Amino acid sequence: MPVIEMPAVDGVKSFKVGKIHVAVNDRLEKGQDLMHVEAGKESRAIKAADTGIIAEILVKEGETVSAGTPLIRLDEADAAPASAELLMPEISGTAKPRIGKIRVKAGDSISAGQELVQIEAGKTARTLKADADGIIEAVLVCEGESYAAGTILLRIAPAATVEASKQQAPANTQAVQCDLLIIGAGTGGYVAAIRAAKAGKSVILAEKNKLGGTCLNIGCIPTKTLIASAHRFEEALHSAEFGIDIQGEIKPDMPRIIHRKDQVVGTLVGGVEYLMQKNGIRVVRGEAAFTDAGHVHISGSESLDVTFTDCIIATGSDVTRPPIPGIDSPLVMDSTAALSEEKLPRTVAIIGGGVIGLEFAFLYNDLGVEVTVLEYLDRLVSMVDRDISEAILEIARKRGIRVELTARVTRFTETVNGQVVTTYEKDGKEYAVSSDRALVAIGRHPYMEGLGLENTGIVLNERGRGIATDEHMRTNVAHIYAVGDVNNRVQLAHAASYQGMIAVADILGESTSFDAGRIPSVIFTRPEIATVGLGEDQAQKAGIAYKVGHFHFSGNGKALSMGETEGYIKLLMDENETLIGGSIIGPDASTLIASLGICIANKMKVSDLENTVFAHPTTAEVIHEAALDLTLGAFHE
Ligand code: NAD
Repeated sequence: MPVIEMPAVDGVKSFKVGKIHVAVNDRLEKGQDLMHVEAGKESRAIKAADTGIIAEILVKEGETVSAGTPLIRLDEADAAPASAELLMPEISGTAKPRIGKIRVKAGDSISAGQELVQIEAGKTARTLKADADGIIEAVLVCEGESYAAGTILLRIAPAATVEASKQQAPANTQAVQCDLLIIGAGTGGYVAAIRAAKAGKSVILAEKNKLGGTCLNIGCIPTKTLIASAHRFEEALHSAEFGIDIQGEIKPDMPRIIHRKDQVVGTLVGGVEYLMQKNGIRVVRGEAAFTDAGHVHISGSESLDVTFTDCIIATGSDVTRPPIPGIDSPLVMDSTAALSEEKLPRTVAIIGGGVIGLEFAFLYNDLGVEVTVLEYLDRLVSMVDRDISEAILEIARKRGIRVELTARVTRFTETVNGQVVTTYEKDGKEYAVSSDRALVAIGRHPYMEGLGLENTGIVLNERGRGIATDEHMRTNVAHIYAVGDVNNRVQLAHAASYQGMIAVADILGESTSFDAGRIPSVIFTRPEIATVGLGEDQAQKAGIAYKVGHFHFSGNGKALSMGETEGYIKLLMDENETLIGGSIIGPDASTLIASLGICIANKMKVSDLENTVFAHPTTAEVIHEAALDLTLGAFHE
């Protein structure tokens, strides 16, 4: 079997292995970057000299290598496929066009002229079509990501090869067996895979895109990375308040901000790849579909017929694009597109004042963009208590974010000067807002396309909204589980991991069951909002008698020192003085909520918090004060 070795480089004895860009089972293209190696300031790419399939990666990131060190062991790729490649075209004015919708998946038969991939570059959108009949062998890129001209987007087997391969299909398809097959390598799937592998199960993890799913690639991590840049910018602008003078113009450099975001995402995705290897999990790159309730076919870098003892479906969710006229305009983005937008709009209209809409509203506001939020309901972030919705509305407006409530968006229209006009109805009248870009953030829906669920008898939730599961994450079909966004219980990354752990515990015969009350939720606005357990609205609906303790950050020394005194904490206790819920709007809310989560998961009493010593000066002292507010009365307010 061929081995790729570290080449000799004049004057350099040893290199450190930097980023490894490939994983076991990847099919290599000639010239493809395999890994980077570094020596001092020098960094060079090790490229594939030939085609092949990666059998083993023989080095780890951070390891020292010298000329001749074996890096990668290859299996020879089948000689047969004289595949065609669909490449990213050159588009003048844009170094890295973005992939919009990919209209095909691995295994699809296509005919000449069929639309394959939508490309977006600045204000232009273009659709790449098939030159000839064939079959999609592999989709090598992701929606929402940007790629340089010449990047291979799809590999397409010509029709003749397809016919030939059909005749030899049984020989090319490998039959494999495993204890646990997991479909989808997002935070639900990959965490379940690690948990099962640690318990000694043989695990196959099927993924058609990058490891890490929505959270790592186009959700939590990239948004928080962009938010971190926006905070730096906003803080630099206001540094004089802290006695720091910064000379010269301070401005955001979007291409560098996006590049940093891509690096953070790349590091974490690489980290997941490493964890899969470390835990002996077989990752198969391809699209998985049930052929019946006991078998799944995976087509992609390999063609596998998998027989499993148990299976976890963890396919996540996709952005919801409602049929609003004009929504396909390149000026109308979804959150995935917004994450890679290298040109900062001057003005933006955000449709939806939910979690994604508000996070982007504060992010853009921090970067100096003029923001209008159009929300259909009569409040922002309707999943939190009404007083918190009102508090964040007031803060948003104070920061200059325009918010229109009870506004139903009805259409988008492009103008001749490159603006998008968003038309909305409010109180029976029609209004419009003109902006450089519109961002639609009105929810996500469970992703079940192409899974072959119809071959399994798996029952869906009411109105087809996700896969129905019990409190052990079991579907109605024995030995098949569904975790994360696809079961539509709670659309949060950490809820998916939690459910993945519950599903594996059930497979291992341990008894744990799902408890939504333990799942904290955080909205990364400025200040942040975080909740766990019951809110007042929910407690009232459930007819639970409760008392509330409050404390404002304006009475907290650390918050004052940071210049972040907006917001407050609310603690709810029931008749037995047990903590049943907590909500925080204020600095560090995302971190503080963990302590309340521990209290609620362990059914602790308010006296337990009262008797806890909180370090001074910290924002965590607001928890102590709110507990005191339920007993003796808060001390510092
Ligand atoms: P969401 O449900 O939170 O908010 C969508 C909002 O759009 C709602 O308030 C809705 O009333 C409004 N809306 C719907 N149609 C409209 C129309 N025609 N005109 C105006 N407004 C309209 O959905 P989202 O913000 O897209 O987020 C999707 C999911 O992802 C959520 O479940 C969210 O919890 C999750 N998420 C979580 C985080 C986090 O944990 N920090 C971050 C991002 C997303």
